[in-house]
Amino acid sequence: MLLVAISVFSLFHPRALEVRVADVAVELHVGSAALPYSLADGADFTLAVPGKIERHFRGGLEIIEEHGELRAIVRMDLETAVASIVAAEIPASGAPIEALRAQAVAARSFLAAAHGRHRGFDFCDTTHCQFLRQPPEPNEKAFQAAESTRGLTLRFREQTIAALYSADCGGHTDASPPGADGYAYSRVACARKGVRRGHGMGLCQVGAAALAAKGKSYLEILTFYYPGATVK
Ligand SMILES: [Zn+2]
Ligand SMILES: [Zn+2]
Repeated sequence: MLLVAISVFSLFHPRALEVRVADVAVELHVGSAALPYSLADGADFTLAVPGKIERHFRGGLEIIEEHGELRAIVRMDLETAVASIVAAEIPASGAPIEALRAQAVAARSFLAAAHGRHRGFDFCDTTHCQFLRQPPEPNEKAFQAAESTRGLTLRFREQTIAALYSADCGGHTDASPPGADGYAYSRVACARKGVRRGHGMGLCQVGAAALAAKGKSYLEILTFYYPGATVK
């Protein structure tokens, strides 16, 4: 099982965190004797920045002190991370399931291929890496999108590519020279015109939703936004 280590809540620059396992709560703060704090893989816990945000996770946990704040790193299996990202990136209200499936394959490709963005963990939970929300429940579309595409990634010359995607390309996506994975993005005229939000490379979330609404499959959506790549 492939595990990914994601730093969470760093935008809050927490000086205190609360960890709850079953009914036992542990308060940690900068300077706590209990640091570094860890939970083994497979733990079921709630992590909170008191008064600000609280999330439930299943996985391993490590909390360290760094530069006068606390850093929480959650280790979870790749498929749980994919489902969480789909839930965060595409709100459940709107997009059809085929758009969510396309997003799941793109997010999985990115997670599998783009390691080493940080020291000590793989990814953060901001736009720098990918948004991450609480893992969805099995009855949610985001969970089903990940489950029904389990293991599939975008490939170029047999290598998984660190697939980029953005909220709205604004009318066309951008080309780029080949990255470390060897894949070069091409300019694609998008199914939707709008105001650009994000970098504009690879899958466009509003465009993917529009294509799915027209009956395109997630495979058609992916080969449209990632010309020359294949899904395996
Ligand atoms: Zn990052
Ligand atoms: Zn677009």
